[in-house]
Amino acid sequence: MNLSAAPIVPVDGHAAPRAAEPWYAPSGDEVTIFEQCHARQLAVMLKGPTGCGKTRFVEHMAWRLGRPLVTVSCHDDMTASDLLGRFLIDHDGTRWSDGPLTRAVREGALCYLDEVVEARQDTIVVLHPLTDHRRILPLDKTGETLDAAPGFQLVVSYNPGYQRMLKDLKPSTRQRFVALDFDFPPTEQEVRIVMHESGADHATAHALVSLGQKLRGLQDRGLAEVPSTRLLIATARLIASGIGVRSACNAALIAPLSDDAALVGAMRDLVDLTFI
Ligand code: ADP
Repeated sequence: MNLSAAPIVPVDGHAAPRAAEPWYAPSGDEVTIFEQCHARQLAVMLKGPTGCGKTRFVEHMAWRLGRPLVTVSCHDDMTASDLLGRFLIDHDGTRWSDGPLTRAVREGALCYLDEVVEARQDTIVVLHPLTDHRRILPLDKTGETLDAAPGFQLVVSYNPGYQRMLKDLKPSTRQRFVALDFDFPPTEQEVRIVMHESGADHATAHALVSLGQKLRGLQDRGLAEVPSTRLLIATARLIASGIGVRSACNAALIAPLSDDAALVGAMRDLVDLTFI
């Protein structure tokens, strides 16, 4: 399990220097809606393809709201104990160690469960009592029931296109969240993001974004995952660091997307057409 946490608000009363703002370019009213959800203690689900800005949005919102952020990357081996915590044995005996969800509940943090659909149903159900009016977290192993601290908010991300037939969230889980739809940004917005995140110039960023849009059109021809804004940024970074355009596109854009010779050939043709 990958865990990362933004700085936790110090308990000794000394204000820590505020971390730099995670830059986020909004595409609609998602910032306002999220702020209202936070104020009204509503859980939020971010729906959209991988690499389109969901994580960056949560990082930005945690900064904006002045809340710590606890991020958990979900996977199918993740158990409820990985979220809640477990007893550990050390030289002094047995002691309880909070999992990331419990920590976030106690501290009033934003808890972001990335790709929640990857987690098993019996893991996901521990979220239910936190997402209704009770806002409680029962810890069966310690016998405690925690009331979520006021700033606590649950945020999950979900890629509806991915493994759609194999995995989906149960309606009883979905209906506990306000859902915000994310998608790849319109052309000029994506150009701006690629420039900001990579240091590439406008012409390069624009060409990469229009290449990305053409590659996204290949989904009908068997491309399982379309190129994300993240991939375009990685490619732009290589170009900005002096790597040739075709080498950068091959290594950072095309190779990560497919091993299929015909598809790779078609994608290379599109690179050639874009960067004549
Ligand atoms: P996701 O969580 O949807 O998989 P990320 O939030 O990690 O995707 O986005 C990948 C990268 O794309 C980010 O690290 C950021 O550099 C960039 N990005 C995408 N959308 C935006 C946006 N709207 N504003 C700022 N950066 C963005």
